[in-house]
Amino acid sequence: MTDLLIQNCLVLRIPNRTTAIVDEGQDILIRGNRITAIQPTGLADPSHFRETIDASGLLAMPGLINTHAHVPMVLFRGLAEDVPLDRWFNEYIWPLEHNLQPGDVGLGMELGLAELIRGGVTTVADHYFNMHEAAAAVEKSGARAVLGWAIFGTGGEEALDNSVQFCQQWQGAADGRITTLLAPHAPYTCPDDFLRMVAAAARETDLNIHIHAAETLDQTRASVEKTGRTPIQILEDTGLLDRPTIVAHACGATDDDIAILAKHGASVAHCPKTYLKLGMELTRVTAMHAAGVHVGLGSDGAVSNNTLNILEAMRLLALLQKDRAHTAEVMPVAEALYTATRGGAYALGMGDELGALEPGFLADIALLDLSGLHHQPLHNPAASLVYNADTHDVHTVVINGKVVMRRKRVLNIDVTDVLERARRSMTRLSQRDPAQRIQTYAP
Ligand SMILES: [Zn+2]
Repeated sequence: MTDLLIQNCLVLRIPNRTTAIVDEGQDILIRGNRITAIQPTGLADPSHFRETIDASGLLAMPGLINTHAHVPMVLFRGLAEDVPLDRWFNEYIWPLEHNLQPGDVGLGMELGLAELIRGGVTTVADHYFNMHEAAAAVEKSGARAVLGWAIFGTGGEEALDNSVQFCQQWQGAADGRITTLLAPHAPYTCPDDFLRMVAAAARETDLNIHIHAAETLDQTRASVEKTGRTPIQILEDTGLLDRPTIVAHACGATDDDIAILAKHGASVAHCPKTYLKLGMELTRVTAMHAAGVHVGLGSDGAVSNNTLNILEAMRLLALLQKDRAHTAEVMPVAEALYTATRGGAYALGMGDELGALEPGFLADIALLDLSGLHHQPLHNPAASLVYNADTHDVHTVVINGKVVMRRKRVLNIDVTDVLERARRSMTRLSQRDPAQRIQTYAP
């Protein structure tokens, strides 16, 4: 007996960056946590399946992948608006994070995971604190996640040891849905010696790395002035890039930096809404693709984004790369869809089993209802996903072969209870004393 049959849907396939195919009248067969076959409707006998989903009129796409987030920051949503990056850190984020108490990260994670699943996101790479709470929330939600405990140079060896311990405890947990890695914050908050220590620990424990670097051109200039090296060169110098590394943003990456990332097989998380909102430069996604660097989409935290909406990030990716190049021909539909799915999977080191609807791949699937007026008439479903779709179109979500949202209802998270608890914590979490910040931004 096979476990799950998704019947009679449109199936989106993105075999490479230049091809997006939509097949009609397809069934997706799932055994355990993997897709076993995709075939024309009518060939499979529904009585041979434990569960069937009638997906008539729905489009199945690979679950969206969020390659850079600080999900629990949804608790601070709306508390740092319209301020430049240095004030955003020093007067808002780092004082606000001083308020975090036990229980907050778990609560924020549950709220954010409900939002992510609701928006068709099936995997998130999260970079935050108190990650045992985050991991427990991921386990409960049914989502897939790549989790790293954010550490700063000021935390020294003890912080690194704790984060290694976290990684070892949760690696492969939740039926394999949780992957862990080391998450040093950034070269400007982690001195070289600390980064070298992280690189050594990563080698010894076979862990990957997730770090912010070259967030702006200003950071790159300041780094060259202070150290003679760009932030990306520092990652290379300190040995971090010897491990598979996700670099968040890299908006200030030079041509040489992009070559360094390509040489080491490092990947980049691109979070366009944050860049627009904070007046930063854009990641040069088209140039990185040309150099062979894997790029995935990210939301970043909800205090810069302000949502965890990867459909929106995909649309901004397509529009902004075109705008920057002054031509409609760059970042076409297939490349945008690839970046949101396959690119993200490769960026997280899971390209051979995640991010595609193909036999043998993990069964992480978003079913979208494209019957809304904003899609009709539906001449081009692939283009509709990039340019028209919104999170309300997401109908049902399957992760690791299990239904986690059915007919727009998130199954494993008690959203009413989470919202009530979040509401009760609002006053306490919104207090701000800049003298009490957890770090100082001075790149
Ligand atoms: Zn970030």
